[in-house]
Amino acid sequence: MEQEKEEGTCVQCNRVISNPICISCLRQQVEDWLIDTKPMLISKLNKKTEKMNEHESVPADHDVSCVKCGNDITVCYDCYIAEISKMMNVRDSELVGKFNRIFRFNVGLSY
Ligand SMILES: [Zn+2]
Ligand SMILES: [Zn+2]
Repeated sequence: MEQEKEEGTCVQCNRVISNPICISCLRQQVEDWLIDTKPMLISKLNKKTEKMNEHESVPADHDVSCVKCGNDITVCYDCYIAEISKMMNVRDSELVGKFNRIFRFNVGLSY
């Protein structure tokens, strides 16, 4: 996957956002997955996502919008998935293994 965009970096890791999906849309994907795996975590997921959304103030020169909904993107896929897997790991390390396999492979991250 080669989608290099020059504009816009993640407010958390400062890397260029190469997978332009906002965390609200990502949250939806994770929720869809949790419905079948661990529905009790959905409210946690929602809270976490809300918190991350609150934290971000969009820099003036920020120019990345979500390919799905058009919202500004401030946190990259990577950072969001990392936060969510941290949240899950506290509760269920087996679950987080599955989660990482699905969502990290999605973007071909090399961890
Ligand atoms: Zn990031
Ligand atoms: Zn979106």
